[in-house]
Amino acid sequence: MHGLVEIAPLPAVPLHDLFTYRVPDALSARIAPGMRVRVPLGKQTRTGIVTGYAEQPPPGEVRSVLELFDDPEPFVPTDVLELCRWTARYYLTSLADVLATIVATRVPPTPSDRGFRLGRRPTDAELAALGRRARAQHRAYRVLEAAPDATLSAAAAEEAGVAATALRALVAKGWVEVVRLARAPEPTSEPPAPPAPPSLTPAQQRAVDALVDDIDAARGGSFLLHGITGSGKTEVFLAAAAAALAADRGVLVLVPEIALTHQLADRVRARFGETVAVLHSGLGPRERWAEWRRIRSGSARVVVGARSAVFAPVRRLGLVVVDEEHDAAYKQEDGLRYNARDLAVVRARLAGGVVVLASATPSAESYQAALDGRHTLLELPERPTAHPLPPVTIVDLRGRPRERGKPQLLTDELRAALEGNLERGGQTLVFLNRRGFATYLQCPGCGDTPACPGCSVVLTWHRSAGALVCHHCRHHRRPPAACATCGMTSLEAFGVGTEQIEATLRACYPLAAVDRLDRDAAQRPGAQRRILQAWHAGETDILVGTQMVSKGHDVAGVTLAVVLLADLSLNVPDFRAGERTLQLLIQVAGRAGRGDAAGQVLVQTLRPEHPSLTAAARHDYVGFITGELERRRTLGYPPFARLVSLRLDGRDGAAVERAARELAGRLRRRAREAGLSEDAVLGPAPPPIERVRGRVRWQVLLRARNVPPLRALARAARAAEPELRRQRVRLVVDVDPYSM
Ligand SMILES: [Zn+2]
Ligand SMILES: [Zn+2]
Repeated sequence: MHGLVEIAPLPAVPLHDLFTYRVPDALSARIAPGMRVRVPLGKQTRTGIVTGYAEQPPPGEVRSVLELFDDPEPFVPTDVLELCRWTARYYLTSLADVLATIVATRVPPTPSDRGFRLGRRPTDAELAALGRRARAQHRAYRVLEAAPDATLSAAAAEEAGVAATALRALVAKGWVEVVRLARAPEPTSEPPAPPAPPSLTPAQQRAVDALVDDIDAARGGSFLLHGITGSGKTEVFLAAAAAALAADRGVLVLVPEIALTHQLADRVRARFGETVAVLHSGLGPRERWAEWRRIRSGSARVVVGARSAVFAPVRRLGLVVVDEEHDAAYKQEDGLRYNARDLAVVRARLAGGVVVLASATPSAESYQAALDGRHTLLELPERPTAHPLPPVTIVDLRGRPRERGKPQLLTDELRAALEGNLERGGQTLVFLNRRGFATYLQCPGCGDTPACPGCSVVLTWHRSAGALVCHHCRHHRRPPAACATCGMTSLEAFGVGTEQIEATLRACYPLAAVDRLDRDAAQRPGAQRRILQAWHAGETDILVGTQMVSKGHDVAGVTLAVVLLADLSLNVPDFRAGERTLQLLIQVAGRAGRGDAAGQVLVQTLRPEHPSLTAAARHDYVGFITGELERRRTLGYPPFARLVSLRLDGRDGAAVERAARELAGRLRRRAREAGLSEDAVLGPAPPPIERVRGRVRWQVLLRARNVPPLRALARAARAAEPELRRQRVRLVVDVDPYSM
């Protein structure tokens, strides 16, 4: 028996977390955390989630819960509610905000076996009067009259746009009766007999054995599966999933972007059939909640989904797989800024399940965790197919003749490779990175790029101000008159468009089928699917694309992969630029030679000696990451230090700057008191993109090796939020940020 409950309203109330309500006696024996209720809030009523019980009533009037929707099963299961609490604590937000994000604002009611049937027939006069006075009821009556057996399920009535209030009024008149309908049979929860899985290589078998041991023993281990591209990581986790199902445990498979990984969803479905649910942002609210219910009820035991699927209510969760765990797409970049990969580890721990992070190029964070013994490292060093990894050729762009002052990207080497590939009938992927791009200056003679002496990130070129700026610490200076390294007279601003490359290639190869896939091209309805279909079918000879084409597309006909200008991603002003570049290069290289014909890879750059490029040429991930981790340790970047980014934005540029300076000043004083070093508070500085949709942004970056004082600083910043709001400045707190 509980007299008081705490409720998270949906949607959350700004700057408020939970509200306390009284539980009417009739509900007190049944109400439980995770259940949905209807509560009064201000002058309205709202749906809310019960998060727990309150011991003491708050001061003032305490209102009562009006209705309980879920009984006896809570809508949000206990381990998911626990994950939400963890998320709120870690990401410095409210539990109400987390719940509002995962449950969405309007949750369609759980379909019941309730239905409506015509009852006592009204007289014609009564019906005519109804038509005049109560149009909605009249319409509801007519809809029901036209239904088979004059009966409709509650869901079908809602679908037909019949108002619930109208039905209630008709029930009150006795013209409609509430009936119980036979339930549609649920799909079977027994996994169907799987098709015989392919035979595994010894390395795959070792990895599977390690996972299955932990699943069977319910040990809840944590693994990093490092397998080169094409090494058959998927087969490993499918085998582990089969073992989990056999042990009557549920499975959650996270993918970075479901739109790009339908292939994986299809493979999982082919293996496990009807028991698979797929969650992604392309689902409408109704489909989404239909899937949620299938998962909640246990009729779907395997869930494949993007980011937010980490909150899926999988029953008896036994295995969590994070595919392509290094992918930045796991980081949610608006609203609730969480990292689904990190939450997956927590989710598995709370459920007592096994977690596997899989990648050809694990993130520095996960690799270090494996070195520290926090993950068990499993390795797949070979491809099971006849073809080894394709050779990678680095094309040095330094000191080449210019084309109207621009670097000449269609080099002789590229032309020769492309023409050869066209002659052999192979497909070519031409890749140009645009993610996180900010204009930088680079020396065309030696490839040197000015970087911040304090933060080691590439300086961003602000043309209007005529200055190079570090967007972490705001170090700024005029561009040097000559390259500091080789003395060549001028640095150049770089920026190339995919559209421009596509046009050039079309002009050079009029007989080839050239296509382009980037964010612009994908915006036309259906365009992305059409472009990819033609690409998969082998109708496209040359596909020019951005990161959209770099992952998840196994096209057998691709025998040449080209990275037009690797420097574009090397010079992203981010401490992860080197790691991201290597991941990208290996990913792109992995696209070539997946079929019967051998592949080749061409990477063009002004910095051929950069560790990311030399490592990519040797397919040497471990060599790269070892050096990269050393660099991070020296510079004090993650995983050896933690970052929290505080982004302030508003329409009044001066007000935002003033607020940012004030906040940074205050935090700096606190940092000194807490014994943190001088550079624990960096900035305020304008981020690479200063103005987004008319709002000016400034950033303060918190960085420290010692986590508790860092988190105390971040909480102090969060506490300043009401005051900032009064100044019309918005604060976004980003814990473990990915884009800065
Ligand atoms: Zn130079
Ligand atoms: Zn700096």
